[in-house]
Parts: sequence; structure tokens; C-alpha cells
Amino acid sequence: MLDLVIVGAGAAGIGAARAAREVGLSFELVEASHRVGGRAYTETLGPGWAFDLGCHWLHSASINPLRAQADRLGMRYRENVRRRVLQLGTRWASPEEIADYEQFWEDAHAAMNAAVREGRDVAVAEVVPRDSRWTDLHDYWTSLLTSADADQVSIADLVCYRDTEENWPLEAGYGTLVARLAEGLPVRLNSAVERIRWDGGGVRVETVRGDLEARAVLVTVSTGVLAAGDIRFVPSLPDWKQAAVTALALGVHNRIALVLEGNPFGDEHPYSVTWAHVGETPMNFILRPFGHDYVVASTGGRFAAWLERAGVEASVDLARTRLRDLFGADVARRVVGHKVTAWATDPWVRGAYSAAAPGGFGQREVLGRPLDDRLFFAGEAVSPDAFATCHGAFQSGLDAVARIAEVVRTG
Ligand SMILES: Cc1cc2nc3c(=O)[nH]c(=O)nc-3n(C[C@H](O)[C@H](O)[C@H](O)COP(=O)(O)OP(=O)(O)OC[C@H]3O[C@@H](n4cnc5c(N)ncnc54)[C@H](O)[C@@H]3O)c2cc1C
Repeated sequence: MLDLVIVGAGAAGIGAARAAREVGLSFELVEASHRVGGRAYTETLGPGWAFDLGCHWLHSASINPLRAQADRLGMRYRENVRRRVLQLGTRWASPEEIADYEQFWEDAHAAMNAAVREGRDVAVAEVVPRDSRWTDLHDYWTSLLTSADADQVSIADLVCYRDTEENWPLEAGYGTLVARLAEGLPVRLNSAVERIRWDGGGVRVETVRGDLEARAVLVTVSTGVLAAGDIRFVPSLPDWKQAAVTALALGVHNRIALVLEGNPFGDEHPYSVTWAHVGETPMNFILRPFGHDYVVASTGGRFAAWLERAGVEASVDLARTRLRDLFGADVARRVVGHKVTAWATDPWVRGAYSAAAPGGFGQREVLGRPLDDRLFFAGEAVSPDAFATCHGAFQSGLDAVARIAEVVRTG
């Protein structure tokens, strides 16, 4: 009988396993897929050209526990990446227009904070004006921040996010950092958990490669996986826990990387450029990350879900068209390769990250609440102030093991 089984080797499961090893718990870390990292996953597009399919930025870097891990491992990241450019249809936005948009963003957030102080927990779209020239752009960024659309996101939850506005990309990729943190941990790959029995003493975790018995289990799979019922709980999870899973559904966020022949932008180009045209869904591009010849476009919310269903070719076509709108046909013709993510249809995640539904404030605490001191939950969705992030997931794993260690010791 083990002390603990950890289900899922994403950032939360890896954080939990490191903490369990530290405090001397006997444990197994079981992972459904052939690799560790979950939504932290880096591939390459060329020699040394890291492309993060999932998490990319060390958000809130100065208070992000993974930054210290990156430092310890000697992994480089880039600070101060704020220089942004905006194109409005066929012309570049003036500095005054960009300032005007930034003011709209500030006002929108002030309005959300004011509404929350009045005790309202409504959708972003109910508070942020619908008739501004900047509404579409604000909605687009909301869909990237939350992976859901402005009418689907709770303002009371959103304002709890602790944002220092330091978003620093790692040169070798965030997925690489998370994979390195798993080095030396005992991980059982290709071992999907099908059923968790908590009807007797302790828990029985049934995987496709055999069963494990333990004093406690820590479930770190996404709310997409929980909502789909891919893991059967016996007895079933209580209604209040299921309601929390439903209230914290995953949205969609995808990335479209286009590999270019050479550098068409010159040495002095902005970090990112957004194409925005009234009535159309905007599209942001990161240009040549760390000086490598590719660009990355991002989609979010229902639009991302729709484009994912339309397929890789449609995604690449659209991104290439937007690149042409921004920089001209010569640049668009230099696209020589691509890689496109499909998080909604990833069977081990089923979406991007959790967005609390309007009225769903407080459900993160409910989702994280243990059952009977043996069924524990971690993952980005339980983080009160760093949800939807890799560091929030990692920290939730550390916090859960601190509680589990107490229970195991006293039990
Ligand atoms: C496109 C995109 C961009 C993002 N950008 C950022 C960013 O820039 N910065 C940032 O901080 N965060 C970002 N995030 C969010 C961040 O990646 C996640 O919040 C975080 O990685 C989630 O970690 P987790 O451990 O909670 O869940 P997961 O990473 O989903 O880990 C859960 C693990 O459980 C496994 N699993 C599933 N089912 C089973 C089963 N039945 N049995 C066993 N194992 C199972 C999965 O394979 C997975 O490995 C982004 C995410 C996406 C998708």
C-alpha cells in the first residue's frame, strides 16, 4: 500500500511528485500519454527553435515559483517583451490610437473591479461596453487570457488573477522546463487511469496497465477530462463537486506557427503585431521568437474551436492571409512550413484552460476541496489567483501534498 498515487504528470502532478519525494511519501505518478508535461509541451521547428504548443510565458515572473527553477537549471528567458504594434484593417494604428485602446482596457478592468465590489458576478461582456471600436479587440484578448469568450467568463473570478504584467518567454520553451523538472521522478507513462475506487479503506486506482492501492490519490487531470467522465469514480463524485467541474469548463486556445524562409522583417521588428479589423476576429502574431525565422498566431474561444474543427489547412490558410494583410504578399509567400495545435481534441486535456462561468466565483476552492481525506484535487483550475497558468498548476501540486502529508502522518 502506497501513501499516494498522483494521477497526471502535467505541471501540477510533477510539482506534487517533487514535493512527495521531498517529504518522504511513498508514491507513484501515473500518466496517460507517452510523455510528461501535459499542457506544457515544447517541440522544435528548426535546430534550437523551440515552439511551445501550450504554456509559453512565465506569467507574473517576479512571483512565479518556476522562474527560480529556470534560474537553477540555467535556462534563459527574455524580459521586457512589451513592444506591440497594431494594424487596423489596412493601416498601422497611430500612437494615439494605441493609447486610446490601452485606456479602454484600463477602463474595462476598472469597471469589472467596481462591479465586483458591488457584489455582481456577471460575464465580462455585461460590463465591458459592446459598442466601442475596441470591443472586438478586448474580446479577442479576453479569449486568449481565459480561452473562453467574453460572455462566458466570470468577472469576480477574473479580477482575482494576480498579474504583475511580467510575461517572460523561455528560450528553450516552457514545456522543456517542465519536462526537466520531471527528470528522475518515477513516472508510469501510457498508463491511463480508468477508475478510482474510494469505497473501501484507502483508494484503488485502476489503470490500463494494472491497479495501485494507496492511502490517498491526488487527481490533477484537467476539468475537461473530469467533465467528460473519462475517469470513473466509485462512488461517484458528489453533485457539488461535479457542479464545480462544470463551472470551470475549459475553453480553447490554439497556436498556428508558420515557418518562414529567411527573415523578411529586418533586424528591428516589434515583438508582436495584432491584426484588427472591425467585424472580424483579430489575430495576434509573435514575430521571430528569439530571432528564429517563424511567426506564431493565436486563436481563442469559440473562434479557436471552430477553426480547429475546420482543420490544419484552414488554420494555416487564415494565418497566411492575415500575415499577407499585415506585411504583404511577398512575406506570405515565404511560408515554408507550419505546426498547428489542436487542444480541444487532445484526448488527455480536451481544451485549453479553465474559465469560471459567470456566477462561478468560489468554485475553484470547491473543486480543490478534498473528499474524505483520501481523494485530493490539484491542477490549474483549483488555483485561486494563478488559474489558467503553469505556475498556478505547479503550486497547487505542492500545496496539495503539504495537506496529504499531514493526513498520512496523522492517519
Ligand atoms: C495554448 C495554450 C497556451 C498557454 N499559455 C500559457 C502561458 O503562456 N503561460 C502559462 O503559465 N500557462 C499557459 N497555459 C496554461 C498551462 O499550460 C496550464 O495551465 C498548465 O500546464 C496545466 O497543468 P496541469 O498540471 O493543471 O494540467 P495538465 O497539463 O493537463 O496535466 C494533466 C495530466 O494528466 C494526464 N491525464 C489525463 N487523463 C488522464 C488519465 N485518465 N490517467 C492518467 N493521466 C491522465 C494528461 O495527459 C496530463 O499530462 C497555456 C495552455 C495552452 C493550452
